[in-house]
Amino acid sequence: MKRIFVNETVNKIGEKVKVSGWVNVRRDHGKIIFIDLRDRTGLLQVVFAGDIVKKADMLRSEWVVSIEGKIKERPENLKNSKIETGAIEMEAEELEILNEAKTPPFEIGDKDKISEELRMEYRYLDLRDSKMQKNLIKRSEVLGFLNNYFKSQKFVEIETPALTKGTPEGAREFVVPSRKHPGKFYVLPQSPQQFKQLLMVAGFERYFQIARCFRDEDSRGDRQPEFTQLDVEMSFVEENDVMNLIEEAMIKLAKNIFPEKNISSEPFPKLDYDEAMEKYNSDKPDLRKNKDDPNELAFAWIVNMPLFEYSKTEKKLVSSHHPFTAPSEALAKEGKPEDLKAKAYDLVLNGYEIGGGSIRIHQRELQNKIFEILGLKEAEIEARFGHMLKAFEYGAPPHGGIALGLDRLLMILTNESSIREVIAFPKTGDDRDLLMGAPSEISENQLKDIHIKCTK
Ligand code: ASP
Repeated sequence: MKRIFVNETVNKIGEKVKVSGWVNVRRDHGKIIFIDLRDRTGLLQVVFAGDIVKKADMLRSEWVVSIEGKIKERPENLKNSKIETGAIEMEAEELEILNEAKTPPFEIGDKDKISEELRMEYRYLDLRDSKMQKNLIKRSEVLGFLNNYFKSQKFVEIETPALTKGTPEGAREFVVPSRKHPGKFYVLPQSPQQFKQLLMVAGFERYFQIARCFRDEDSRGDRQPEFTQLDVEMSFVEENDVMNLIEEAMIKLAKNIFPEKNISSEPFPKLDYDEAMEKYNSDKPDLRKNKDDPNELAFAWIVNMPLFEYSKTEKKLVSSHHPFTAPSEALAKEGKPEDLKAKAYDLVLNGYEIGGGSIRIHQRELQNKIFEILGLKEAEIEARFGHMLKAFEYGAPPHGGIALGLDRLLMILTNESSIREVIAFPKTGDDRDLLMGAPSEISENQLKDIHIKCTK
């Protein structure tokens, strides 16, 4: 018999079916044993009576079983409106034990009482919890929706390399030693920024990617060393073109995948950076009308940001966004660089920055000038960004784009308090993977292969 999902049993009253899954709980009533069988789609009450009780008596939580039996309507007074299958139950006829299970180190779903470390170490058990399952299924729906949306808008999905050279996004880079080129290193991308711009030079005009990005930051709030961005780039556009496209994507995403949500203001309000700082003392103000409403989504754009700012760690100018961002006005000889505004925009939602982008520089001369203002010497510009400058000399179209942090967006849409709740295998606050045991030492031979000597 072909196995069906638990939630498919609801319209099989009177029929014999086969279900498979995990024993969620077992309740003994002497001659009768009840179990709640759990699979991806929910719970089903299964009743064992008669000879089969002896076998069912062996069952323990989290054992894996297949059960054949008849679906029956429950007596009126025993119906449970809280679960999808609450009006029915299965009368077990055959029970196959597929695998036994040790007692789990915590009760599945009992998240509030267990430590984060234990959850991470046994993530495969933690993920059995219905809330985690729901979150990851939502995540899959969101990715699917965005993929369809951007393709329907004639965007091409293109993958860019993970082994590459640095691109400045304001964080440290993860470095990968090269075995074949002693003393040389790849770095993992902080974003696909340079590649997506080069794809515009290549004539694709509309690119998107669900991109994995890597940033080696000191533990700062709820961040992950690797995270997922919706990365977008378009040619022949101005700021509003990019913002309108993303705005439509967000509105449709909410309506389709999170219909219970309501967006407080459409079109999304646009706030000048200065205005936001003055009025809310924040560049990511929380504009919800009712902060207790879990379904309110207050999106807003922050525009007219400064092109440069003074670095908090060193006394020098750095790009507020990244050095490929176009200035709003021509660079005048006189005037201070820190007074310049950028053709940039950030998207904020309920007090979080969920993305940002800009119109880019597409001319060599201007790009070079920006690098100079940032204090880069000619040789350094050439070594780090020579390929971009060169590409701009071969017919680079005007272009711009944006990236949205999907983990953060999902966290807000699922009303979670941490992005770890919407990532299948996240790392701890200090970047450890407790399940796999990473980072870990590697063998002397591996070290030798990659020409690395450890000092500690
Ligand atoms: N590369 C930028 C980032 O990762 C986004 C963009 O400018 O498109 O934040």
